[in-house]
Amino acid sequence: MRPIIIAGPCAAESSEQLFTTAQQVCDVFSKSSIPITYFRAGVWKPRSQPNDFIGAGDEALAWMKQIESRFGLVPCVEIARPEHVEACLNKGIHTFWIGSRTTVNPFLIQELADSLKNTNATVMIKNPVTPDLKLWIGGVERFMKNGLSQLMAIHRGFYESSENVFRNAPNWQIPIEFKLHFPEIPLICDPSHLTGNPHFIASVSQIALDYGFDGLMIETHHNPAKALSDGAQQITPETLGHILQALTFKSKLSTPAEIDLRKQRTLLHNIDTQISTLLAKRMQLVDEIATIKKENNLPIVQPSQWNKVVETYTDNALDDKHFQTFLTKFLELLHQQSIERQQNNTDNIE
Ligand code: PEP
Ligand code: MN
Repeated sequence: MRPIIIAGPCAAESSEQLFTTAQQVCDVFSKSSIPITYFRAGVWKPRSQPNDFIGAGDEALAWMKQIESRFGLVPCVEIARPEHVEACLNKGIHTFWIGSRTTVNPFLIQELADSLKNTNATVMIKNPVTPDLKLWIGGVERFMKNGLSQLMAIHRGFYESSENVFRNAPNWQIPIEFKLHFPEIPLICDPSHLTGNPHFIASVSQIALDYGFDGLMIETHHNPAKALSDGAQQITPETLGHILQALTFKSKLSTPAEIDLRKQRTLLHNIDTQISTLLAKRMQLVDEIATIKKENNLPIVQPSQWNKVVETYTDNALDDKHFQTFLTKFLELLHQQSIERQQNNTDNIE
């Protein structure tokens, strides 16, 4: 099966910006074996800050429609309100995506599903910003119940308050669960919003394809440095061409066992990532504690304190003796490391 590829800028800024980007997309992909299916641009942008660029608005719909007649690309627009749906349908635009800040709100999703009832629109539903599979599934079901059959889902990662390498946490197990629930609905990965960083777009795209995703939505701008929104994560059509050429569009994972194994591995990988992040945070705390001890002339090692810690955590091991032994060894190692770190830290302070 051919992958579904959606390219185009974060926001519609001007007719010149849209047409130049679309022209470059055509130049790069006219001879490519991987065709671009849809051209995206946010006409009304849901921004966090009131003074941020909000897209060119209604005026841009006519430009998006021209993308179809001039370049043969199907235009795709974000909708968040029934008025957006009406304006698009009036201009002959029938392909939409729903942003993660909208999927999070069942009232809004229902209004959008009602405004598209029994139409032949194509709707791509992004995951909600929160890692809530039921909300995502529920959003899709609202469109299904209203007779829409051209549905797709987009995984763009999940908001996390802590700082991470990626802009949003992938939580791969959630889209995989989604795929198990709706095997017939094409699942697209949006590595642009997921990573927030062009350097990771290729590798995250490959992971998604290996997981059996059906396509990619990648933000593409003719001049990312000048983009009015999400400039840091957008790539040029030329770079998109290189990335797509280098990807392996593998066949889908077929057996449930294969999918299950991937899912469990992902969970394991997520846990390992959390363990290393937590250990790094622990070391930071140890440094802060060392400073407090130094400033207050307190001893580095307080044995009674540590014994309490070991007892509390080895209780978690319950009756599993092997695990209890492992956990005790692990905690001792951690303690030793903390003491050494505090000693070094104290030496550095002096
Ligand atoms: C977008 O695709 O431009 C967008 C706003 O995405 P998200 O809803 O994933 O943040
Ligand atoms: Mn964007």
